[in-house]
Amino acid sequence: MTAEQTDRPIQERWAEVVQHVKDEYLSDAQRWPWIVGFSGGKDSTVVAHAVFEALATVPPSQRSRPVHIVSNDTMVESPLVMAHLDEVSAQIQGAVDNLSLPITVARTRPDPDKTFWVLLIGKGYPSPNQQMRWCTDRLKIQPTSTYIRDNVSKHGAAVVVLGVRRTESIRRMRTVDKYENDRGTNLNLHSSITGAYIFRPIVDLTTDDVWEILGSFHAPWGGSHKKLFQLYRDAEGGECPVVLSKDEAPGCGTKNSRFGCWTCTVVEKDKSLQGFVDSGQHAYKPLIAFRDWLVSIRNDKTKRSAIRRNGRLTFDVSGKHIPGPFTIQARQEILERLLAAQAEFGTKLITDEEIDLIHKCWAMDLQQEERLANA
Ligand code: SF4
Repeated sequence: MTAEQTDRPIQERWAEVVQHVKDEYLSDAQRWPWIVGFSGGKDSTVVAHAVFEALATVPPSQRSRPVHIVSNDTMVESPLVMAHLDEVSAQIQGAVDNLSLPITVARTRPDPDKTFWVLLIGKGYPSPNQQMRWCTDRLKIQPTSTYIRDNVSKHGAAVVVLGVRRTESIRRMRTVDKYENDRGTNLNLHSSITGAYIFRPIVDLTTDDVWEILGSFHAPWGGSHKKLFQLYRDAEGGECPVVLSKDEAPGCGTKNSRFGCWTCTVVEKDKSLQGFVDSGQHAYKPLIAFRDWLVSIRNDKTKRSAIRRNGRLTFDVSGKHIPGPFTIQARQEILERLLAAQAEFGTKLITDEEIDLIHKCWAMDLQQEERLANA
């Protein structure tokens, strides 16, 4: 971003962003659907805001390109972030209905047999850590990718609209610059989904610009962005962005991730929940205690099977034994403690469907153990 760009009033620069989005919407890119990745964080809120505002100024006869505003629920999202996302999604849906805009507000979730609880408590996957981060792909990347792929199959191609910014992080900047611009258009090829393109309308905005926009303009779906400011203030910072691929997951499971899953054992300390507790929301204490306990039992050999799920004893190159999944007893203990935390917290942390699936996994693993013992 040049000095001249940053010196100009935000109103002028914001009008340019909205115009850019409008021009792109009306461009002849075959009217491929737009899929706006919406995490509820500051960057994706600004993008959704720009898309909504641009679309409202397009004459109804030219609104032929469908737009999807899609958020992902990992089913272990920080409850305060989820409540904010639910509220804003409902506001957007209400405004879409009133204005008859061609926007679908959608929510993706992991497959029922791939949720955090089914894999951890049902199948005994050890709590994720940096070396074995099995969660990002299953909880975040796959649900969003499936939604994009479905649209690509239906329409031949799809454009994913993202709130990625160059100044966000060096790692993200590299990702932004890595993929070739498609033949001089504003679209970049998606790194892993054939037929999908990426449009980054706020790539040159700074973090200050984003906050200034959110503070200066009312949300086009009604109300202001005030609650978002409060959420960030309480959580003290960053966000877990929309994650499309592993190299685009800088905030996920790192010390910068303040709006990640409340169960995240990849981070040393959960900063978002701690931030909320520090700002007076003590109801989250049982969740923090449960997460900390989950971290503490990860490498406890008494809670892990000696053999892996494939029935084999495994050693690393140095000859050190690598333990298998959590034992059935440990999984039962995790479920009991989770249900106790849920009772204390007063809101559902695990669904009934997940509990049913967990019991089915246990039954299957017990049968397998019996088979191995009798072999
Ligand atoms: S926030 Fe943590 S638990 Fe959630 S997907 Fe990312 S690394 Fe995994």
